[in-house]
Amino acid sequence: MKALVLGGGGREHALVRALSLDPGVTSIHSAPGNPGISDLSENHVINVTDGLAVTELAARIRAELVVIGPEAPLVAGVADALRDRGIPVFGPDREAARLEGSKAFAKEVMEAAGVPTAKARVCRSASQVSEALDEFGAPYVVKNDGLAAGKGVVVTEDRALAEQHARECGRVVIEEYLDGPEVSLFVLTDGAHALPLLPAQDFKRAYDGDQGPNTGGMGAYAPVPWAPAGLVDEVMESVVRPTVSEMNRRGHRYQGLLYVGLALTSRGPRVVEFNARFGDPETQVVLDRLATPIGAVLQATDTGGLGSIGSLQWKSGAAVTVVVAAENYPGDPVRGDLIGGLDAANALEGAYVLHAGTAWDGVRDVKANGGRVLNVVGTGANLRQARERAYEAVGRIELRGSFHRTDIAERAAADV
Ligand code: AMP
Repeated sequence: MKALVLGGGGREHALVRALSLDPGVTSIHSAPGNPGISDLSENHVINVTDGLAVTELAARIRAELVVIGPEAPLVAGVADALRDRGIPVFGPDREAARLEGSKAFAKEVMEAAGVPTAKARVCRSASQVSEALDEFGAPYVVKNDGLAAGKGVVVTEDRALAEQHARECGRVVIEEYLDGPEVSLFVLTDGAHALPLLPAQDFKRAYDGDQGPNTGGMGAYAPVPWAPAGLVDEVMESVVRPTVSEMNRRGHRYQGLLYVGLALTSRGPRVVEFNARFGDPETQVVLDRLATPIGAVLQATDTGGLGSIGSLQWKSGAAVTVVVAAENYPGDPVRGDLIGGLDAANALEGAYVLHAGTAWDGVRDVKANGGRVLNVVGTGANLRQARERAYEAVGRIELRGSFHRTDIAERAAADV
């Protein structure tokens, strides 16, 4: 199988790595990719939200699978363009991707499907905002209705801040605060069958102890040893099947990956959000644990036949990823500084580095080129060992001004 992967972050590096370990995948192309990805694939420079450009590239290299990493091409209809040309694609059509692209649409679908989630109001005016904030009380949860790369949500006790965020966004969803630990569950579906992946936990806040601003994610681990028994089956029954059926009923068959962000509240699991693609950085740890070759599985979400795969196989043990972020992230990150220690980190047993926001500096050097620069992955027999290895490898990375959280998987590892 020839595969083309769209995107150029840590999630796409993890996808390319998983495809490179699949004996059924004979060649891998990426667009735009990054310096880490280029070790495993041929990188192409195109606009990945341009359906025509993507389709032309896919046809030229005779891709038998196009894997769409980020949300922007999905919302732009790139999967539709590929399907129209009969090119197998991993990722939902534009209308189906609205489950991520519009928080209001996602709420509407969840309500119609009877999926457990936070009560919510869609607000357009200051008076509607004020009423909704009164109704739900503090802590206030205010979400930009549109795509905001994981940064459109404000959760705060500060009413003025909640009102200010609502003013800045325009149309917002205001909802009830969900109290409880969060877990991410990725589910592959062809619109008829659904296969869950391993649950993972990510860390959204910038600093240790869940302090500081929300980010795209500062680290993750899998599996989640403290997840209640039966959680995955329960979420498949109460969330995934009803949502996929409701999308079918609306004529928008959902094919690809449904990312279910859950809060485990005292009243049971509640959906915090849906995304229409693999989460970043949870993908980095989940795919590390996947034993089933990934190419045919991703392809089956488009061509059908996910039902005949049965279930996915997982390696024993655990994986932890720690994000090395640039100075000033998530504000205006400092770019352009050279990164040292990559080979030294990769040389450690049970550790490797995925590139997230990097670029070539000349022909051999790699520089920081984004907020989340690297995802350092540690693997081991259990979370404690995986975590130790990840942090040992982080210690070998040199990037001026960079920072990372020191408490990724700390609590979960302590219970092992
Ligand atoms: P979202 O983009 O909807 O995933 O929101 C980003 C983050 O904000 C989530 O991962 C949660 O940590 C937090 N969040 C979102 N909605 C709620 C809610 N209803 N109650 C508590 N926290 C929330």
